[in-house]
Amino acid sequence: MTHRPDSSSLLHLRRYQKMTTIVPGLMPKKPQQIKSYCNSCVAETNHKILHLHNASGTYEIVDYGEFEWSTKYYLLKCAGCDAVSMREDNWDELHEQESTKYLPARIFRKKPEWIGTQEFSLVCPNDVLPLLHETYVALQSNCVHSTAMCIRAIIENLMTSTVGDKGSFSKNLGAFEAAGYISAKQRPIIEGVLEVGHATIHRQHRPKREQLVMLIDILETLLQLLYVHPEQLKDLRKTTPKRARP
Ligand SMILES: [Zn+2]
Repeated sequence: MTHRPDSSSLLHLRRYQKMTTIVPGLMPKKPQQIKSYCNSCVAETNHKILHLHNASGTYEIVDYGEFEWSTKYYLLKCAGCDAVSMREDNWDELHEQESTKYLPARIFRKKPEWIGTQEFSLVCPNDVLPLLHETYVALQSNCVHSTAMCIRAIIENLMTSTVGDKGSFSKNLGAFEAAGYISAKQRPIIEGVLEVGHATIHRQHRPKREQLVMLIDILETLLQLLYVHPEQLKDLRKTTPKRARP
């Protein structure tokens, strides 16, 4: 719905803009850096401004008058990790609002580094890896249903590829636990994750984004226990000095 500004707020804004008109010769120094989000650091960090392009203009709406807009295009370099990115700051007088776009898009949840390793791809079941990559894409794109479905599909695949298909989620989970892949205390946690997937598919459930993050936390922990830590332990054992026999 288009917000219709009242005449007093627009008058106030225009008066403020006149009051803050920059006097030639007293131009403030251009900022050399700004705070911006860095996908590599996964945090708001200082960014050096490599280039800044300003664009602005006006547009007219019948019966409402003329309104201004402006866009700042930044080419930025993270002061922490040197990653280069672009950012677009938009301002619109009609809606009295500012918005920011990032290029590449701001990463909501960073993929763990072990997912991209050769070691993980060698031990992880074949069908799991593409599903795992899709899960992060779905979460990044705010596709909550797809994220929950992918997580459910991954856990199902982990169970059937390790203990075989026993015919139902409950039986598969029982066999998974009996084979020692998860403990009795972990079973209700995995059941809870699967239940979100079931409800998303069959009961029009729409989990919140922060709930999906929790599911991904659990999934990553499970994958690390099954495929990452055992490989890391092999290296650890090789480099740990053996106890001298008495
Ligand atoms: Zn950075």
